[in-house]
Amino acid sequence: MVSFKNTEIAFQSLSDKKLQKKHLLFKLMRHSTLTRIGGYFIKLALHLRLPVTPILKHTIVDVFCGGETIKDCSTKINELASFNIKTVLDYSAEGKTTEKDFKETTNQILQTIILAKKNPNIPFSVFKVSSIGRIELLEKVDRKIHLSQEEQQEFNRILHRINTICKKASQSGIPVMIDAEESWFQDVIDQIAEDMMKTYNKEQAIVFNTLQMYRNDRLDYLKRVHQNSMQNGYFLGFKVVRGAYLEKESKRAKKIGYNSPIQKNKYDCDNDYDKALEYACENIHGISICAGTHNEESSRYLMQLMRTYKVEKNNPKVYFAQLMGMSNHISHNLANEGYNVLKYMPYGPIKDMLPYLIRRAEENKSISGQSGRELNFVKKELNRRNSVT
Ligand SMILES: Cc1cc2nc3c(=O)[nH]c(=O)nc-3n(C[C@H](O)[C@H](O)[C@H](O)COP(=O)(O)OP(=O)(O)OC[C@H]3O[C@@H](n4cnc5c(N)ncnc54)[C@H](O)[C@@H]3O)c2cc1C
Repeated sequence: MVSFKNTEIAFQSLSDKKLQKKHLLFKLMRHSTLTRIGGYFIKLALHLRLPVTPILKHTIVDVFCGGETIKDCSTKINELASFNIKTVLDYSAEGKTTEKDFKETTNQILQTIILAKKNPNIPFSVFKVSSIGRIELLEKVDRKIHLSQEEQQEFNRILHRINTICKKASQSGIPVMIDAEESWFQDVIDQIAEDMMKTYNKEQAIVFNTLQMYRNDRLDYLKRVHQNSMQNGYFLGFKVVRGAYLEKESKRAKKIGYNSPIQKNKYDCDNDYDKALEYACENIHGISICAGTHNEESSRYLMQLMRTYKVEKNNPKVYFAQLMGMSNHISHNLANEGYNVLKYMPYGPIKDMLPYLIRRAEENKSISGQSGRELNFVKKELNRRNSVT
């Protein structure tokens, strides 16, 4: 069994200087007030065009992102590849609302597929539907509200962009993952993803949808779609995650007064997460998965399932994935043992990546959570290196 405790392997890609930088950053992020105020001041400074970009570039962006352009990412892609870890380029410009922005984002996603076709170290591509279409419109479609002629044309343009991306992915042989988002427009994303899978997954899983297992209906959904895929003769691809919008989901359900789609507690979420992995391994012929998680138990459980169901470590139907800058102890130790491992590498203009970076800082501020664990691993490795020299 792979041990996630080996910090020498976990941080083998980081020089002493980079490790110290990470140490400082994770220490700072544990101060919740600083994280909250920091996000606000960075937004303000960027708005006032104060020269904060170089500082961000050499600190938080360097740890959590590939850079501002695809080209900037190349050193990090090669570095990861030398440790058997592959990259998913994730254009992370968020909060866009104009047709011009949506076209630019679609173009960026197509560029990542074109590069992936030439580079075996980039085996997947990814996108968010809300990065190429207006959320308000997606919500309207989700609620089956009648669209005006103009809105229908706008929605058709979203469908056209998604089809262009999936078609390019299919022609290039590069699977594309569609991120899961807030539940109030996830049905429309699911419907589009299923249509794309029916079209492009006839021979292999090219289009992947995402299952958020913090929702209480996802296991049934997985089984239902699986039945449908068998009846209609297409392969399924799923990224399996717990879900990133927990607070937002619960708050909205309470405010509007509907039953929250979120599980009763973390235990139920963990349980369904592991059951989804098991269901996929049991049905590995028809289902490809990418386990997007920083949870050690689930990662261990997936390794165990792979042994039980005789799925080879390097079977392309099973990938483990972590976000850049997080859980190196999982990514590097798995890759070192020959498992398929991906790092999501966000890139884009710094001001557009701020929502992503703030989410990472927020996620990392709890002492008992990710940052506490990450910081302890970094400290352990710094001590190990000091004792060696
Ligand atoms: C490669 C990758 C891709 C991702 N893509 C997406 C995506 O497309 N969409 C998306 O939404 N997220 C995505 N995420 C984020 C992911 O959903 C989680 O927020 C994050 O990874 C933390 O969960 P974990 O599995 O690492 O485990 P843990 O750290 O063990 O779990 C934390 C998670 O458990 C859940 N949770 C916590 N408390 C409760 C509770 N009381 N009740 C129910 N659930 C609870 C929450 O989802 C919380 O984020 C992605 C993550 C990775 C690594």
